[in-house]
Amino acid sequence: MARILVTSAIPYINGIKHLGNLVGSLLPSDVYARYARARGHEVMHISATDEHGTPAEIAAAKAGKPVAEYCAEMWAVQKDLGERFGLGFDHFGRSSSERNHRLTQHFAGRLADAGLIEEVVERQVYSNADGRFLPDRYIEGTCPNCGYEHARGDQCENCTKQLDPTDLINPRSAISGSTDLEVRETRHLYLRQSQMADKLEAWIDSKTDWPILTTSIAKKWLKDGDGLQDRGITRDLDWGIPVKRGDQPWPGMEGKVFYVWFDAPIEYIAATAELADLNGEDDSAWERWWRTDKGAGDVRYVQFMGKDNVPFHTLSFPSTILGSGEPWKLVDYIKSFNYLNYQGGQFSTSKGRGVFMDQALEILPADYWRWWLMSNVPETSDSEFTWEGFQAGVNKDLADVLGNFVSRVTKFCRSKFGEVVPEGGTYGPMEAEAVAEIARRLAAYEAHMEAIEIRKATAELRAIWVIGNEYLQSAEPWAVFKTDPERAAAIVRFALNLARLYAILSAPFIPFTAEKLAAALGLDDLSWPDDVEAALTALPAGHPFTVPDNLFAKISDEDREAWEARFAGQR
Ligand SMILES: [Zn+2]
Repeated sequence: MARILVTSAIPYINGIKHLGNLVGSLLPSDVYARYARARGHEVMHISATDEHGTPAEIAAAKAGKPVAEYCAEMWAVQKDLGERFGLGFDHFGRSSSERNHRLTQHFAGRLADAGLIEEVVERQVYSNADGRFLPDRYIEGTCPNCGYEHARGDQCENCTKQLDPTDLINPRSAISGSTDLEVRETRHLYLRQSQMADKLEAWIDSKTDWPILTTSIAKKWLKDGDGLQDRGITRDLDWGIPVKRGDQPWPGMEGKVFYVWFDAPIEYIAATAELADLNGEDDSAWERWWRTDKGAGDVRYVQFMGKDNVPFHTLSFPSTILGSGEPWKLVDYIKSFNYLNYQGGQFSTSKGRGVFMDQALEILPADYWRWWLMSNVPETSDSEFTWEGFQAGVNKDLADVLGNFVSRVTKFCRSKFGEVVPEGGTYGPMEAEAVAEIARRLAAYEAHMEAIEIRKATAELRAIWVIGNEYLQSAEPWAVFKTDPERAAAIVRFALNLARLYAILSAPFIPFTAEKLAAALGLDDLSWPDDVEAALTALPAGHPFTVPDNLFAKISDEDREAWEARFAGQR
């Protein structure tokens, strides 16, 4: 038994997440954590909401609420949706927590003591009407290159030219529309990542088992242009973690907060501490996951994230951890994902494009989405959600294969033997062949899950389901029953045991269905099989069960067309 720490990139607070957010961090981390638990490991599975920064302030203003109140409400909404999707976090925290305030200030103080913080005076655009400095992308104006009137201060989205806010013609605040802007000097803290570059490179080079997607992005940031750049870690905002040097004031930094990207990954640690606080435990309860001097030496730490988050997790956060000079746990494996696109374009929170978590659950149960998303997860390249593809995947894998198998065997048993595992007959060559085939597939499934090759794992699990259907097809208990009821009883007994095995093996991907199936079969022992042959005799003759309702309904063409139309526009 190992100890495995699993974190999912923390979703931003400004709205309900779409399936593209779910597929690249929250859901695969849940599948992996469930699998690791099923294999008997001690698992700590952590996520949280990422609550700071200008987008949160703007979303709160749009909702007409104070930002703290808005964040508290949206955290509750995201937590609830996560639970309804079966995301089994040990704790779903908040980056605005008191724990994260203290830890973030602590790390900043340690980095300053180590000489890794530099104070830099910058010139930034200040909006008198808004009473605040404006981040580049909250300044709008006319593009000097193409004349587009809604170019942002960092880039023109019409011609893609990179811009500085001072390049814009007729600049105005994107928040209030005010043109009363001026350039002011302001002082900020920079994390001297450039000082850490050699250390980071050696560390990344030592991770020979990481996905190419992860290391290639990290290397690009380390090597491109002038190499790894120092990074501003403070902002002139009201909402955030006040800049302090440990628990001491930081002269010159009054009224400033840490940049959201500095404090967000620290929340992984803070959320684990929040959990200990909730449980009334002392610091040793969370430090044994995070401090190598306090028990975390044998922890394997795995992170899940979309590719856009890789630079922060391979370079910035490790700079914080390593630069602190303290024995904090560094990540052991970074699993990153490409993007899931939606019907030929991108999912977009700001444009309301695609299917969002609440909408998804309005039309179908979570397991339909979980299965399709994981069996089409964008691991080696971007992948595409289409309604045709979704319909085909659900109907084939879930309804025709798994659902149909369970339905056929339980209903046939009920009609011939009653709702009890039948006695009589013995297993023969056909069963031996199925056992051997499943054992081979199961070994592959386990190997892919250990390697976190999710798509390959789903292919093996699907193949294990298919073996059940093929077995029933060739064993033909409905025909055999007429001449040899004893043999038919053995076939049905074997098939019911297969259904039990499926409940166990499928649980990481489709936990709600697995639970329903386990309840119908009256299972109390759901332990992972060490030995397939033994596992397929676990349900003895005489064991009662009930026929479950259809596990999965097929998606009709009418439904597919209606949903496609419903989700064609904006949310
Ligand atoms: Zn332009």
